[in-house]
Amino acid sequence: LSERLESAWKKLRGQDRISHANIQEALKEVRRALLEADVNLQVIKDFIAQVETKAQGAEVIAGVRPDQQFIKIVYDELAVVMGETNAPLAHSATAPTIVLMAGLQGTGKTTAAAKLALHLRKENRSAMLVATDVYRPAAIDQLVTLGKQIEVPVFELGSDADPVEIARQGVERAKAEGIDTVIIDTAGRLQIDRDMMAELARIKQTVQPHEVLLVVDAMTGQEAANLTRTFHEQIGITGAILTKMDGDTRGGAALSVRQISGQPIKFIGTGEKVDALQPFYPDRLAQRILGMGDVLTLVEKAQEQIDFTDAQKMQEKILSAKFDFTDFLKQMRLMKNMGSFGGLLKMLPGMPKISDKQLQEAEVKLKQTEAMINSMTAEERRNPELLASSPSRRLRIGRGAGYKNDSEVTKLVADFQKMRNLMQQMGQGGLPGMPGMAGG
Ligand code: GDP
Ligand code: MG
Repeated sequence: LSERLESAWKKLRGQDRISHANIQEALKEVRRALLEADVNLQVIKDFIAQVETKAQGAEVIAGVRPDQQFIKIVYDELAVVMGETNAPLAHSATAPTIVLMAGLQGTGKTTAAAKLALHLRKENRSAMLVATDVYRPAAIDQLVTLGKQIEVPVFELGSDADPVEIARQGVERAKAEGIDTVIIDTAGRLQIDRDMMAELARIKQTVQPHEVLLVVDAMTGQEAANLTRTFHEQIGITGAILTKMDGDTRGGAALSVRQISGQPIKFIGTGEKVDALQPFYPDRLAQRILGMGDVLTLVEKAQEQIDFTDAQKMQEKILSAKFDFTDFLKQMRLMKNMGSFGGLLKMLPGMPKISDKQLQEAEVKLKQTEAMINSMTAEERRNPELLASSPSRRLRIGRGAGYKNDSEVTKLVADFQKMRNLMQQMGQGGLPGMPGMAGG
């Protein structure tokens, strides 16, 4: 009843759906957070306009204010806009896969080249590094030293050779030696420079790489947008690596890179050491960009509320006769989402000691149950009684789930009915609620 009252009240005040008027404060807060995270101004404008349009008219969940709900939408959208989770490195069908590193001086290209080589080695892909930075005296030595450290061969022709020629021969060598992936490190300049771009373009033209990775220092801030635009227009990038994420920068450059190039961030660099390379997780970065202050608290609150209302609805259903196989499946998925089933069971207080083997068995059982429910028609899921009375339906479902006969399905239906009856009895008995079952 209180929920219904609340929603009526909300409707009256125009707070039941997100509108331009009821998210002004939140909009300001989001804009400030993105600015503080060094996202490019134009990118912020475009992004916010995009989210606002999308959020317009969205229903506001019970217990949540429109601006809170809006923050949740911003967070979700931010994670989506930033692209794929863990986008893999290109892998050509014919070896070698050719990766070209690009970026300004000091951003971490050479370090990232070595990190990538080590990452590939860990995936059992052989790698070769090619040193084309002939301008800085120590650049070749730096790559050679890194190569030794990670036991990856480095191809170099000294500092008098032509970078394009070094790249060409490096790829030839990798091909001859059956190397899986060749990574070409290049020279950078402190600023975007016509000669540098021209040289990079010639190397690209010559070796035809499968992957051109723009290395961007996360501390670049506002400039990241401009930088990305220039490199993408003049060279064409296929992805990016965001370095120096171990610093206290919020990483807004990621959003700029993504919005402007449309290409995925493939890795982030989190330290000077060669193993400090991590896959890119947009949801984590979305949290970091939005910041830890008020905004994030709001997000979390909204999120909790959403989960809570879902759980509440489910609980009401369980206690009524409406609970069916579809709800059952939803409930199981909810449990799965909360992390490993095993981990969850282990955390429950008063649980007898469970062995890992038992946990594995429980997880297998969960999968089998899911397979059976998946084999049911919509009608059967709604109406489990149909299955209780029809052996041929049970047999069809059993076979669909990979069994010879209907015995597993018969058991599932019986268990389900027993459980539902028990719950309804409890519901009528007026138990205060079933926190364990509500998934909260
Ligand atoms: P390049 O000029 O683009 O080749 O840049 P380098 O690879 O030589 O790196 C420049 C400096 O940044 C070096 O001191 C690196 O150790 C450092 N560096 C590179 N990547 C990272 C990173 O992810 N985190 C930190 N803290 N330092 C990094
Ligand atoms: Mg370098």
